[in-house]
Amino acid sequence: MKIEALPRRRYTPAPTPIQKLEKLSRHLGGPEIWIKRDDLTGLAGGGNKTRKLEFLVADAIAKGADTLITVGAVQSNHCRLTLAAAAHEGLKCRLVLEQRVAGSYRKEASGNNFLFDLLGAETITVVDGGSDLSAAMTTEADKLKALGRKGYVIPGGGSNALGAMGYVVCAREILDQCMEGGLAFTDFVVASGSAGTHAGLLVGFNAANAGVPLTGVNVRRPRAEQEGNVHKLALEAAAFAGLPAPARESVVALDEWVGPGYSIPTDEMVEAVRLFARLEGVLLDPVYTGKAAAGLIGLIRRGHFKADAKVLFVHTGGAPSLFAYQRTLAS
Ligand SMILES: *Cc1c(COP(=O)(O)O)cnc(C)c1O
Repeated sequence: MKIEALPRRRYTPAPTPIQKLEKLSRHLGGPEIWIKRDDLTGLAGGGNKTRKLEFLVADAIAKGADTLITVGAVQSNHCRLTLAAAAHEGLKCRLVLEQRVAGSYRKEASGNNFLFDLLGAETITVVDGGSDLSAAMTTEADKLKALGRKGYVIPGGGSNALGAMGYVVCAREILDQCMEGGLAFTDFVVASGSAGTHAGLLVGFNAANAGVPLTGVNVRRPRAEQEGNVHKLALEAAAFAGLPAPARESVVALDEWVGPGYSIPTDEMVEAVRLFARLEGVLLDPVYTGKAAAGLIGLIRRGHFKADAKVLFVHTGGAPSLFAYQRTLAS
C-alpha cells in the first residue's frame, strides 16, 4: 500500500533540523559533520520511535484498540515514547521489560525507568533476557480480552514493516532538505538496533536513488546477524510500501563499537557523549547514539571518509537515559 494512503498520526509539527557540527569537525580534523536532529521529534523527550509510532498508533486506533502493549529494555526509549503516545491519544499502555543484562532492572532507577511511572504505565512485567517476548505480550493481550478490552501489540523498537514507514518518510524528508539547502552529503551514519530505523532509511534512500552510502553502527549484535536482520526488514518494508527492494550489499552494520554488550558502557562511548555535549551542546545517549557517534569518530580517525566528505549523522534521540548513567559519564 502507498505510504500516503496509510493512517498516520502526526507527533512532530515540522521537519527536524539538519545542522552543521563545525567545532566537532575541527576538533577531529576530519570531514564536514552534520547532524539530523531526530532527537527533536515530538512526544515526551523525542527520538526515533516517535516516527514509527505515527503509523503504529494510527493502526491501533483504526483497529479499535484501547491499550498499547509493547516491549523494551529496562531503559527503553521506545517504551517511554509508546507511553507518551498512549497518554496523548487517551489509550492505556502496558509494558514488558526485558532484562538484557541480568539483574539490571531496579524499580527505583532513574532515566526512562522513572518516566515509565510518570507517564502512567498501567502494568510493567519484567522478564529475563532471552525470554519469548511476543508470548509475554500475547499474555497481556489475552488478559485484556478477558476484561473486555482490546490490546494492540507493538514489537520491540516498533520495528516491523509498518513502523519502518516512519523512516522511509524520514529519508524523503532528508532528501528534500538536501535539495532545498543545497546540501550534497557523501555519507549517512545511523545507529542500528531493532533495525526499523536503518531498514526504513535504506528503503527510502534506495527508492529515491540517493546514491549515498548508509553506514549502520550496531549497538547489540554481530555484524552478519545484524545485516541479515536489517535486510530482512528492509525487504518486508519495501514490499509493504510497493517500493524497490534494496540489495543485500547496500546493508552495512558495523559491530566494532558494541563493546562488551548492549547498553554496557565503553570508553569510546563516553568520549563521544562528552565531545558532542561540550563542543556542540548536543546530548547523545549512552546506549545508542553514544556508540553510533563513537563509530562515526572511529571511522573518521581511521580515514574511512574522503577529505572532502560531507557526513550526515542521524541523531536518533535517547538523552533521557543519560540520567541512569550519571556515574559513568560525570567527570
Ligand atoms: C531504538 C533506538 C535506536 C535504534 O533504532 P532501531 O530502529 O531500533 O534500530 C537508536 N537510538 C535510540 C536513541 C533509540 O532509542
